[in-house]
Amino acid sequence: MGKKSSQDLAARVLKSERRALAKAITLVESVRSDERAEAEALIDALLPHTGHAVRVGLSGAPGVGKSTFIEAFGLYLTGLGHKVAVLAVDPSSARSGGSILGDKTRMNRLARDANAFIRPSPAGGTLGGVARRTREALLIVEAAGFDVVLVETVGVGQSETAVADMVDMFALLLAPGGGDDLQGIKRGIMELADLVVVNKADGDLEPAARRAAADYTAAMHLMRAKYKNWQAPVVLASALEEQGMENVWRAVQDFIASLQQTGERDQRRVTQAKTWMREEIEAGLVQALHAREDIRALTEQLEQEVVRGTLSPASAARRVLAQFESSP
Ligand code: GDP
Repeated sequence: MGKKSSQDLAARVLKSERRALAKAITLVESVRSDERAEAEALIDALLPHTGHAVRVGLSGAPGVGKSTFIEAFGLYLTGLGHKVAVLAVDPSSARSGGSILGDKTRMNRLARDANAFIRPSPAGGTLGGVARRTREALLIVEAAGFDVVLVETVGVGQSETAVADMVDMFALLLAPGGGDDLQGIKRGIMELADLVVVNKADGDLEPAARRAAADYTAAMHLMRAKYKNWQAPVVLASALEEQGMENVWRAVQDFIASLQQTGERDQRRVTQAKTWMREEIEAGLVQALHAREDIRALTEQLEQEVVRGTLSPASAARRVLAQFESSP
């Protein structure tokens, strides 16, 4: 594919053609270096048309009801006339072979909605790689006119931070029972949350959900505020019964309005763009290092000396880096 065809693809994405959208995302997910150049040309062409969506990250432990919630919330939003895209970051899919959102039985109704677009997590690679591809997919769906983008991630490990770094708002989904009590939630993840949704507030679980919401409200008040005028609220919902969606959406809109008023939303996006660029530089450097045959040979050779104890790891590393810097 040449420059012209990436321009053509960009034009079709802007017209929100579904096949073009899928093709564009497949292109940015590619790890082939020739396709990488195409992907960058595509993103550059789309960039002026991005930035208009509300970007919301959503995390929660397996079983709290993420897919049920995203389906209910997504349908609620398309019912209001919004266009909703759902993306995912799941670095574990590299190991398990499967991926969140990959299961066709999930979110059937939302998947059939003409105003919704669901894309599973790109499979394989490091968290950094998966995050980069999801960031680019986010720009693509925005350019295609989706005005709400939900980025799902599983509530384990480092992926929450990666998702929080690419969205305007980070929402944490919790459920009563299931051992998912206050002690079980990592403080770091609570600190990332701009909104807490306590799901499963229905039937027999409702009293427990109310108690959990009160506990989380108290806990969130102890957190250091991230923004001038925003205290992360705790909202009750039942994804199963499709209840409480309007409260979640109101919280999202209030948050965005608050940050826009103080200029903090633009600041957050500026910081994210700078961080992204620096990460790309570092990832590129590592890639260039690994691509050099002479560097690999020297590394293996010096490794032997390190193993034998005749050279310190730091000196060995310095010699490898010196060689990297000195010759092409
Ligand atoms: P995920 O692993 O976080 O994506 O969770 P799922 O959406 O697959 O839901 C896990 C289980 O919780 C399923 O059996 C759902 O039917 C159930 N569930 C999800 N939302 C609710 C809810 O609001 N109320 C109740 N009672 N069950 C729910």
